[in-house]
Amino acid sequence: MGGFSYKDIYIEDGRRVLEVNILPEKHCNFDCIFCPIGRSQNKVDTQKSFDRIDSSLIELESMIENTKAELIFINSKGEALVNEKIIDVIHIIKGKGLPVKLLSNGYILNWPEFKEIANMCEEVIGEIKVISNEDFQKIQRPIGGYTFENHILNMKAFREQYNGKFILEVTILKGYNDDEESIQKIKNIIKEISPDKVIIARLEEERFKKKLGIMDERFEEISTALLNI
Ligand code: SF4
Repeated sequence: MGGFSYKDIYIEDGRRVLEVNILPEKHCNFDCIFCPIGRSQNKVDTQKSFDRIDSSLIELESMIENTKAELIFINSKGEALVNEKIIDVIHIIKGKGLPVKLLSNGYILNWPEFKEIANMCEEVIGEIKVISNEDFQKIQRPIGGYTFENHILNMKAFREQYNGKFILEVTILKGYNDDEESIQKIKNIIKEISPDKVIIARLEEERFKKKLGIMDERFEEISTALLNI
C-alpha cells in the first residue's frame, strides 16, 4: 500500500486548488470519535517513511502541471507532518512557483522538528473541536500526555512566530461546545491564538450528524457570534 491521492481540482477564492493526501492510510496523533477516516490504528507524532514515495513525488509534479493548479492544499489522512518526505513535497510545489496550504490539527505545529516545515507553507490551518481537557481526552483521544491546554498553547506559540496566513477552524459539536458558556470560551481562545482567519464548521457526515450535528439556526447564531469578535 502507498502513494498519494487527490481530490478533483476546485476553485476557491478564484484559485484552482489541488488537494493532495500524502498518507497511504490514517496516521494521526488523535483518534477523534467522529473522525471521517475511521479509527487511528497508528497513533503517531514522529516522522516515518512510506512506500512508493519516489513515484508519488513524480506523480505530484505531473498532477500540478496537468491540472494547472494555483494552490496546493496538503489535506491528508491524519497529520501530514508525520510523513518524513513532507519537505520534499513542499519543495516540489515551491519549485513550480505555487503556494502551499497545510491542514494540521495543530498540536505539533510548534514542536521544533515540525515548526520550520509548517513555516515553509503560505497558509496553515489548525483546529479546535472542544473547550475542555476532559472532552479533549474523551472525544479526541490523543496520544497519552497530551492536554487541551497545550493544544491551545502550541497553536498560539506557532502563530506568534509564523509569517503566513494562520487559519483556525472551530468545529461546533452538539452537547460539547454549543452552549453560551462554551461560545464565550471559544471567543477567548480565538482572541488568544489571534488567527488571520476563523472558519466555523460542523459535522456534515450523516453517521455523526444525529448525535453531534448542529441545527441550521443555532449554527448560524454561533457562526455570527464567533466571526464578529
Ligand atoms: S484530528 Fe482529524 S484526522 Fe486526526 S483523528 Fe481527529 S478528525 Fe481524524
